[in-house]
Amino acid sequence: MLADKTLGAYVEQLTDEPLNKLGNGVPIAIKDNIQVSGWAVTSASKILQGYVAPYNATVVEKLLAAGLAPFGRTNMDEFAMGSTTESSYYGKTLNPLNRAHVPGGSSGGSAAAVAAGLAVAALGSDTGGSIRQPAAFCGCVGFKPTYGRVSRYGLGAYSSSLDQIGPIAQNVEDAAILFDVIAGRDDKDSTSAELNFTPTAPNLNGERKLTICVIENYVNNASAETKTALLAAIEKLKSHGHKIIYRDLEDSKYDVAAYYIIATAEASANLSRYDGVRYGRRAEAKNLKDLYVNSRSEGFGEEVKRRILLGTFVLSSGYYDAYYIKAQKARAHIKAQYEKILSEADLIFMPVAPGAAPKFGALSDPLTAYLSDIYTISVNLAGLPAISVPVAKVSENLSVSAQLIGRAWDEQSVLDGALSLENLIKG
Ligand code: GLN
Repeated sequence: MLADKTLGAYVEQLTDEPLNKLGNGVPIAIKDNIQVSGWAVTSASKILQGYVAPYNATVVEKLLAAGLAPFGRTNMDEFAMGSTTESSYYGKTLNPLNRAHVPGGSSGGSAAAVAAGLAVAALGSDTGGSIRQPAAFCGCVGFKPTYGRVSRYGLGAYSSSLDQIGPIAQNVEDAAILFDVIAGRDDKDSTSAELNFTPTAPNLNGERKLTICVIENYVNNASAETKTALLAAIEKLKSHGHKIIYRDLEDSKYDVAAYYIIATAEASANLSRYDGVRYGRRAEAKNLKDLYVNSRSEGFGEEVKRRILLGTFVLSSGYYDAYYIKAQKARAHIKAQYEKILSEADLIFMPVAPGAAPKFGALSDPLTAYLSDIYTISVNLAGLPAISVPVAKVSENLSVSAQLIGRAWDEQSVLDGALSLENLIKG
């Protein structure tokens, strides 16, 4: 098995080496929307069949510079739109914890590969939970950095103001190590932040005492098993000396509405480049218009088409103010709510998902699927860093995770709190 060691154990072997020589070729699995020069990159879509990446994403350049080896394409929901990996053109990925259940999505392949021991760690992308939720469903650690911390150059764009690349790993330390490798300003991504970056892994401190705000109404609304697991984790954090405070957040249905307007609006623009001419698969056609229509009709799956239609609708002149502008106002309000809580607490604690991994088909109704994202999407709307950490084994061999959210650019506190939680759970 490739992953009989953690990334931390590999680093340990190389203690004399500087961190930029970390790798010795340790293999890192890569989601199918991140460019690796010379590899097919398809975002699990039919429309990108035959397309080969002409250059490396910045994160891949950084892996290589650290001596790590990108290996293996991981399955995903088509264009990262989904919560189960069932919308992939290649078919579904099974959850290694229980094969009757979904691995989560959209980075379900990355999480399953790490959970099954096929990869030491993996890269995923998170637009509305796609790193944190599959990591939670498969029982591993998933970390979404602050928006702007990691370059998006070479990431297939879904919703550019929300997308962020991050690690899925076996434990918090590995997530920190991989995050340090990929973080930092990149001139090729104008939204990447011009801030100095201090590596987190060498400064990881699970003994730091933090003020943690539990979102009580979210914990109470989770499934019975999830609620029990989260309450037990909160007790452990409390008895370890963290200061726990409690707040409620507004009804998450507004988060879902704002997210699915903004994400689909941006997606409709981003996906307009797939026209059958420039990338991947071209359909048979008699004239140019048919070429566009046939290539897009045959190339995109049902969920992607639904979102392009929705996004085009909310951006159309008659509805722009009623939907898109309103969603942007809701986004500003959601961000302000988080900032208020984070002026009183170092971290926010809440569920990752309403329950453990559902069975295949359980989220096949699009609205049910969209509503299952309630606890992850607002974090992307606010641009904050957040991690999911396994806190309990539950029925059917599944796992439940807690989500810790921090202030923008304060990934260190998120990782410190996560390490503390992980240590407390492992006992
Ligand atoms: N499930 C959410 C969506 O379908 C989030 C996906 C993601 O983070 N890429 O949009």
